[in-house]
Amino acid sequence: MPSTPPAGGPPPGDMDPEDFRRQGHRLVDWIADYLAHAERYPVLAQVAPGDIRNALPRQAPEQGEPFDAIFADFERVLVPGLTHWNHPGFFAYFAITGSGPGVLAEFLSAALNQQAMLWRTSPAATELEEVALGWLRRLMGLPDTFEGVIYDTASVSTMHALIAAREVAVPQVRQRGLAGRADLPRLRVYCSEQTHSSIDKAVIAIGLGHDSLRKIPCDGHFRMRPDALRDAIAEDRAAGWQPMAVVATVGTTSTTSVDPVPAIADICEAERLWLHVDAAYAGVAAILPDHREVLAGADRADSLVVNPHKWLFTPFDLSAFFCRRMDIVRAAFALTPEYLKTTDAATVRNLMDTGVQLGRRFRALKLWMILRYFGADGIRVRLAEHIRLAQLFAGWVDADSDFERLAPVPFSVVCFRVKPAGRALSEADLEALNARILDEVNRTGEIFISHTRLDGRYALRLAVGHLRTTETHVRRAWALTREKAGI
Ligand SMILES: *Cc1c(COP(=O)(O)O)cnc(C)c1O
Repeated sequence: MPSTPPAGGPPPGDMDPEDFRRQGHRLVDWIADYLAHAERYPVLAQVAPGDIRNALPRQAPEQGEPFDAIFADFERVLVPGLTHWNHPGFFAYFAITGSGPGVLAEFLSAALNQQAMLWRTSPAATELEEVALGWLRRLMGLPDTFEGVIYDTASVSTMHALIAAREVAVPQVRQRGLAGRADLPRLRVYCSEQTHSSIDKAVIAIGLGHDSLRKIPCDGHFRMRPDALRDAIAEDRAAGWQPMAVVATVGTTSTTSVDPVPAIADICEAERLWLHVDAAYAGVAAILPDHREVLAGADRADSLVVNPHKWLFTPFDLSAFFCRRMDIVRAAFALTPEYLKTTDAATVRNLMDTGVQLGRRFRALKLWMILRYFGADGIRVRLAEHIRLAQLFAGWVDADSDFERLAPVPFSVVCFRVKPAGRALSEADLEALNARILDEVNRTGEIFISHTRLDGRYALRLAVGHLRTTETHVRRAWALTREKAGI
């Protein structure tokens, strides 16, 4: 039964413009206070599973509610259930920043509600994406032969890279698929044993199967061994597999190690394999003159992903996918139903052609505003400071006989553990000790660190990446870790 608004109730239509203005001002004030004082909150949410769900009704309200009431519940119920990625004591996973200019850009982007599937449905979003990605590409020192497109995450960027590789490797895959084809050998994708799990998910998603992914051993510094890659490819060819692609990582997820991309590119060229570089976290370090070499050899890759939402101060989400052969991505995905046909298709770029999603939001706006607001020099200063803070922490670890560093620190991430001097603890005891310390420092709510496992050893992991993190916060992380270790 169609419902009619109650007499005297709000008229149909969107929020009243004056109400929007009032709430908007209040929200901006709230956000400004939040960004300046995120330390008021425990960095890691201190709620139990189900707390948030149980505090909310099971049904949507029948009658609309005033925004004041909704916002009051946001503060009362939801804020305690937030883990504060914008807290300067956030050192877990990869620390990130939803920066001021990025937040403002997201606000604008939501209001504009652009849907840039076709050039004509948003000429500005379409062309700004090209401009902003061109700026980023040049800042990182990548050649102009790389065309860029924005996706949501590195996982999705990498999936598109492997779909392009599949398009090259498998005849008529777009039309005939993979299933039920006696003419196809089994396909192989190579990455190191330190590679991000998104590569596993990509081969699963695109129909190659998890068995198609072969993980190549690393050297003592967690970098892919090119000799082992070469051997694996030869062995696979002899056994009837068809090698298809290699994923090299610049900044692996556990230790931020950098695979030897030039040597891997040599192999890919000789073997005619698609080379995709996953530089989700560390790619932006190439903006620093003294870190230029982290992308050495990447100019020879077929594709590369870097995440501005990771270490370039961009509110989640924004992943930049660069490809030297975007025509192949288009060959895989371009498909125009009648109602989206336009007469300008030959002269413009329609972003719906470069990927699986049709609609896309105006993400380029935040990247453009961030690059302008901080400027190349401002970005360099901030990245260098994060690296300095991590090196400082690594220095304290190295100088303390009760601690052990478990990996090199090329960027802003330190892997370490407590290993009390003069006590012969087994690996199991060390793991239990460090897991307890992790739990206890995180329960303080002052800092949040995470862990990983390296060569079977349990490692604590401190990642610096928030713009408001200062030396004071890093010193506090060190002091808390020592305190909880009982040192
Ligand atoms: C973080 C990370 C990813 C995944 O990023 P999403 O954007 O969350 O998909 C992939 N690869 C590497 C190396 C990463 O550091």
